[in-house]
Amino acid sequence: MIYNNLRKIEENIIEACNKAGRNRDEVTLIAVSKTQPIDLIEEALEAGIVNFGENKVQELVSKIEVLNEDKHKDLKWHMIGHLQRNKVKYIVDKVSLIHSVDSIRLAKQIEKEARKRGVTVDVLIEVNIAGDPDKFGFKEEEVYSATLEISRLEHINIKGLMTVAPYVTDPEENRLYFSKMKQLSVDIKAKNIDNVIMDTLSMGMTGDYTVAIEEGATMVRIGTGIFGERDYSL
Ligand SMILES: *Cc1c(COP(=O)(O)O)cnc(C)c1O
Repeated sequence: MIYNNLRKIEENIIEACNKAGRNRDEVTLIAVSKTQPIDLIEEALEAGIVNFGENKVQELVSKIEVLNEDKHKDLKWHMIGHLQRNKVKYIVDKVSLIHSVDSIRLAKQIEKEARKRGVTVDVLIEVNIAGDPDKFGFKEEEVYSATLEISRLEHINIKGLMTVAPYVTDPEENRLYFSKMKQLSVDIKAKNIDNVIMDTLSMGMTGDYTVAIEEGATMVRIGTGIFGERDYSL
């Protein structure tokens, strides 16, 4: 099932890239494996997926312990959910990218733990682009100053921006938010801030990833579309 789901998603990604005049290799597919058991993750690995996203620290750490064996050298883990400061220490040197830097205090904690371990951590700044009161992330108008402040932290590289767009039934409803995100990243990149690369735009989920790609996403985070509905009772 996962193999076929991935084949269909791959076709959709290619079609969206073509439509937008982009190369397929500009877009990284992240399989969101939260709540999914190890055997399904292994199935996705066998189908060629190397990037996995998780939103809970404990689950992430236990999956890394099981799967980050020698046989999975290419595997990359992405922290995509709200990260509590007291849990930074468990993942700071284990993940490839933290997508969800949503406060200065969190960034400072990442800096502190990264410094202790002598590592530099790649992060994305999370933007609450729709101004949703129930969502984490900086407001659109706060993003530039937050980026500037976080860029001064020596053990952090800001790779770009991330957003969780509103849940919609028609993905076209999110097109404006995705294009705003793209514009925001272009504007900030143009300021040429030290330690700010701003070439990564993580946006688009199962319901709206093709629209996100058309608007410039470089990472799409897809869970349900790959693994099927999540079972939170497990
Ligand atoms: C769960 C989750 C996703 C994937 O959602 P689907 O709709 O299942 O594709 C993407 N991003 C974040 C931050 C998530 O928590």
